[in-house]
Amino acid sequence: MAIERTLSILKPDAVAKNKIGAIIARIEDAGLKVVAARMIHLTQAEAEGFYAVHSERPFFKDLVKFMTSGPVLVQALEGENAVQVYRDVMGATNPKNAAPGTIRADFADSIDENAAHGSDSLENAKNEIAYFFRSIELCPRTR
Ligand code: UDP
Repeated sequence: MAIERTLSILKPDAVAKNKIGAIIARIEDAGLKVVAARMIHLTQAEAEGFYAVHSERPFFKDLVKFMTSGPVLVQALEGENAVQVYRDVMGATNPKNAAPGTIRADFADSIDENAAHGSDSLENAKNEIAYFFRSIELCPRTR
């Protein structure tokens, strides 16, 4: 299986609940490695740009409001099959449908405030990582 990278965002609800470490533990226990990380309080323009693909969806305005409501932790993760592995670790978009033991089942309250973002394809992962990190900021985990 190929080594991939994916983008993770620990959303404002998870940060406000002080669950950064607990969630990163899930990520690391799944065999994924953090290769870049930054805490950032997104501006409206930055959140709108990141979620541009959803701009016509009815929840877009509320999503942007939520994502700018507090700081987030943005990370690039690396590992075998990282895109799908991280989607599995996160669980379904709606925490009510998320499998037990997943991040969203254990740390999220609703479909709007669902604790974590993870890229949904390798192509989107590349674009999303580039949205937040310059290539020099990505640290391959060689040791
Ligand atoms: N979202 C929402 N209401 C909905 C569907 C989605 O607020 O009815 C938000 C939610 O935060 C979700 C994000 O929009 O994580 C992106 O939606 P997508 O369907 O791409 O889900 P994801 O890939 O995050 O599981």
